[in-house]
Amino acid sequence: MPRRTKIVATLGPATDGPQVLDRLIAAGVDVVRLNLSHDRHERHRERVVAVRAAAAAAGRDLALLVDLQGPKIRIGRFVDGAVRLREGATFTIDAACPLDGGDGQRVGTTYAALAGDVAPGDVLILDDGALELTVTAVADTAIHCQVTLGGVLSDHKGINKRGGGLSAPALTAKDLADIRFAADIAADYLAVSFVRGAADVHQARAILTAAGGQGGIVAKIERAEALAAADEIIAAADAIMIARGDLGVEIGDAELPAVQKDLVHRARSLNAVVITATQMMQSMIEHPVPTRAEVFDVANAVLDGTDAVMLSAETSVGAWPVKAVAAMDRICREAEKHALATRSHHRLDSVFGRVDEAIAMAAMYTANHLGVTGIAALTESGATVKWMSRISSGIPIYALTRHIATRRKVTLFRGVHPVSFDVATTDIHAVNREVIEELLRQGTVRDGDLVLITKGDRSGVEGQTNILKIMRVGEHALLADD
Ligand code: PGA
Ligand code: MN
Repeated sequence: MPRRTKIVATLGPATDGPQVLDRLIAAGVDVVRLNLSHDRHERHRERVVAVRAAAAAAGRDLALLVDLQGPKIRIGRFVDGAVRLREGATFTIDAACPLDGGDGQRVGTTYAALAGDVAPGDVLILDDGALELTVTAVADTAIHCQVTLGGVLSDHKGINKRGGGLSAPALTAKDLADIRFAADIAADYLAVSFVRGAADVHQARAILTAAGGQGGIVAKIERAEALAAADEIIAAADAIMIARGDLGVEIGDAELPAVQKDLVHRARSLNAVVITATQMMQSMIEHPVPTRAEVFDVANAVLDGTDAVMLSAETSVGAWPVKAVAAMDRICREAEKHALATRSHHRLDSVFGRVDEAIAMAAMYTANHLGVTGIAALTESGATVKWMSRISSGIPIYALTRHIATRRKVTLFRGVHPVSFDVATTDIHAVNREVIEELLRQGTVRDGDLVLITKGDRSGVEGQTNILKIMRVGEHALLADD
């Protein structure tokens, strides 16, 4: 059985070596992520060329996800390297301090307006929670603080505010240039960082579309205020990413597990895709095997219903990128056997507004209750298989399409597997037979298996799925079509 949960792997120096991409793809990567917080466009472009070539050589469709840096707020640099901040000491963050002029008393920041967003009593978190500063006074650009959690602070570390409320817009000037780059390299998904509400998603989509891009928008949920606006963000986006790194810093780590479960459920209910991200295999940056806690984290995300699990530093700079993917692969496969991952009570009470959506739901209900081997959906845009994959099931969904962009996009959807199939050049009266022949060629069905097929009378046109057909492999050759 193919794995249902998808694996997103971030590219970086550790994946640039000879054959690493081939081995990552063989180990089961479905989506590759370019993190635009690092490296120049040329470097990313080289990686795209390499990954497209490796995927073609492996005969696989892979989605490319371009992740924008967004308004990640950072401190500047220290004149003499890292400083140690002791608990109780005073320390000042000041946009007027030169960016490379920090010392043990004060440091600059990349965000000029930071002082306007904080007040005495606020807690600023540095280096993803390693240090905490409590604001005591704000004077012009200077934010005077007391160190409430001490530690070593080095150059360029990130700043978050507990509880959220930093006013920086989601798209920076760098992001605007990076969106044009994403369009240029035909990214299948564009991930927007630090989204505050639906307007940020709409803006990113408008800029991407204007630049000629057709990728889906992934809204990263990593600000406290994004949680309050989760439903409108989900409705505006194609997918969300539960960006546990920054989100955990803003809302506190203890809240993350419940928030993750809630966001996965909400996203699936609203027909959006969901990626669970950050520190899933963190110890594998250095070690060849995951900790038990990491095994449970990946498995629990699968049981929560996530579409994809993501690797960041584990693959981009880690010592064991291929082993990290292989570990995720085996953990996901085992977790998917659990009843929680295959039973569905989803949308049983819903009323469907569209014929194609109703067909998708009927197909999943039938498949889960009849015991079929596979679901073959003839799809143009991938909408039908996205609806289908919102329903928990153990049955593989094959997205048969002639469009390469659709094949790449659906690699992110749980339980969906792209198949190249050109409905436009298939005899309209032989479509069912040809679909089954294709699945037989791929070795995914056998004689005697039941297969569900969904398609439209007007084949090759988007939004026209109106037929659900149940076929038995073997008998299909004898039947007149339709
Ligand atoms: P990042 O986003 O890796 O781009 O910071 C993910 C996260 O914050 O968890
Ligand atoms: Mn982040």
